[in-house]
Amino acid sequence: MDSNDVSADLAHVLYTKDQIQDKIAEMAAAIDKDYEGRDILVVGVLKGAVMVMADLSRALHSHVTMDWMAVSSYGSGTTSSGVVRILKDLDTDLMGKHVLIVEDIIDSGLTLSWLKSNLESRGPASVEICTLLRKPEAAKVEIDVKYVGFDCPNEFVVGYGLDFAEKYRNLDFIGTLAPHVYN
Ligand code: 5GP
Ligand code: MG
Ligand code: MG
Repeated sequence: MDSNDVSADLAHVLYTKDQIQDKIAEMAAAIDKDYEGRDILVVGVLKGAVMVMADLSRALHSHVTMDWMAVSSYGSGTTSSGVVRILKDLDTDLMGKHVLIVEDIIDSGLTLSWLKSNLESRGPASVEICTLLRKPEAAKVEIDVKYVGFDCPNEFVVGYGLDFAEKYRNLDFIGTLAPHVYN
């Protein structure tokens, strides 16, 4: 193996490329069924959701438009405070639209909980959430997530959009980092 090979930084593979693609297809089928006859505005939360957005939107048969938001959580340390700042807002007027927020992972759920209320205040017909991964902590928050890919272990994961210091987003699978990467 090349010493610069990114796979040397991974400890375990949690979800393979095939497992992710099968799950995305399963979620897309459920979404198509639920939204039958309605157009969907899918909103990707930058940057983590780019891979899920790209694959999920291509797996959908419904009429879809796509838009993007970038948000940052205020607060000190590593825990999400739930106070959110919009770095890039949507270009789309949400009035009367069926909005589907697409996320890579929900951890505390605080960011998404804030985002959902924010979008709901703009007069859409509906707002639902789709996430590829959900950590156990998220279950403690009052947030209704309609589409969940995998309930994942409470470990720091990378790949398929998820980063560590902006790296590993380009992996087509999801895994945990080897300890030498942190040190
Ligand atoms: P929360 O749900 O706590 O408000 O924030 C979720 C955000 O934290 C995700 O969108 C993601 O950017 C980041 N995050 C949470 N858990 C992980 C993880 O295991 N790996 C990576 N790479 N990012 C995570
Ligand atoms: Mg995210
Ligand atoms: Mg990140």
